Amino acid sequence: MLREIEVGTRNWRNELSSSFHCDTVVIGAGVMGLLLAKKLTDLGQSVTLIEQKNTLAYGASIKNHGWLHRGTAHAVSIKDKDQAKSVVQKLIYGFDYLSSYARECIERPFEPMYAVTQDQTVAEQAVCAWEELGVDYEEIAKQDFFKIDPDINGDLPLRIFQSADLHINNRMLFQKLLTDIKKNNGLVIQGADFSYKSEDEIEIHSEKNFIVGAESFVYCTGANLGDAYRQLTGSDLDMSFWKSHLLFLPRFSPFSMVSLDRDMPIIINHGEVSVVNRAYDEAQCTTPDYSTDPVEVDRAFKSLCKLYPFAKGLKKDIQSIVCVKPSINFGDDSRHSVNSQIFEPLPNHFFVLPGKMTEAPYVADEVLHRIYERLDFSQITPRPIDIFQVSSSSETKFQLNQRP
Ligand SMILES: Cc1cc2nc3c(=O)[nH]c(=O)nc-3n(C[C@H](O)[C@H](O)[C@H](O)COP(=O)(O)OP(=O)(O)OC[C@H]3O[C@@H](n4cnc5c(N)ncnc54)[C@H](O)[C@@H]3O)c2cc1C
Repeated sequence: MLREIEVGTRNWRNELSSSFHCDTVVIGAGVMGLLLAKKLTDLGQSVTLIEQKNTLAYGASIKNHGWLHRGTAHAVSIKDKDQAKSVVQKLIYGFDYLSSYARECIERPFEPMYAVTQDQTVAEQAVCAWEELGVDYEEIAKQDFFKIDPDINGDLPLRIFQSADLHINNRMLFQKLLTDIKKNNGLVIQGADFSYKSEDEIEIHSEKNFIVGAESFVYCTGANLGDAYRQLTGSDLDMSFWKSHLLFLPRFSPFSMVSLDRDMPIIINHGEVSVVNRAYDEAQCTTPDYSTDPVEVDRAFKSLCKLYPFAKGLKKDIQSIVCVKPSINFGDDSRHSVNSQIFEPLPNHFFVLPGKMTEAPYVADEVLHRIYERLDFSQITPRPIDIFQVSSSSETKFQLNQRP
């Protein structure tokens, strides 16, 4: 049995029989898969986590800004009010969880991050949205800000706000999650692919092949979600991909600065490096496309020079990568969205996209609740509502639903 195998110090690969059973198989070890595996093993579940690459968190989870959101940007950028509320609530939930669980992974916790706009209407809308959604902010007078950041473009009519967002060392966070998963006897298999033996059994292909049966399967494979869906169902999953360019430069500003305006930069500083992109730069593509486009790199750099004109001299130092955000098209809304998605096309098979890294703790908890019925808490007395049999007549539900 999986729980009898000591992972970490012993070479479990030699000890595993070629077939075993566990409670949940989690496929894909980005932030979503790691968090889910940690939370499931915290509840005493036996979990097998499979990662295709030789190193964990190979995708968007590591190739991002490392920005722990507290809703500052999304309260403003998401125009649909209900969706903005839903995303901001999840971000604040995730922010609170991660800044407490992984306090040591927060970089320079006392260094503020700022949001900026040149548009008076955007500033007023931002203040309204932040007030309404409980996002902390404090407006800083332009002349006071220039005292602490004299290189920002003083010719622009800037409104500047201090936010409560934080910088996170996501690599350190993932190491902490991995350590916890191993402590909890979760099994992590890297450099592995899988195929289906049946709906509740997969074959893992790594140095050694295993057949693993499980009660639940959770797919956290990011932009590759469609591959598992096709293998499982034989159909294509309708997905969109949104491509963004991130520029890396020697650090040039004392503070991280998030532009709320189009064609202006988002600058997130980590140590001696500034990570920059152009706000709203996402370009839709039909397949994940990781090729960098020099035109986009140039546009991002020009947006930066508008806010920090002296940065022009840093052009020769630019390095860039592409980060792709996937989303499932459910027919109703195929626009770019940062909301999370949980989808169960077959019983006990969950396809999960967190929307943002910071949303992942909320999404993981929602998945836990969805698979609750299948989790084994045999030493704990069931709650009365767990054993309450809903009568075949739907009268009660109907009456409840009819209440004003
Ligand atoms: C430009 C950009 C910047 C961003 N910046 C931030 C930010 O600063 N803060 C924030 O909160 N969010 C940010 N995000 C969003 C965030 O990065 C993603 O929402 C989040 O990382 C997605 O996590 P994931 O675990 O679902 O996917 P991924 O990180 O893509 O992880 C998927 C994992 O599954 C593995 N995998 C794929 N196929 C298989 C397979 N067949 N078998 C096994 N394993 C497989 C991959 O190798 C990978 O390790 C950003 C997004 C973009 C596009």
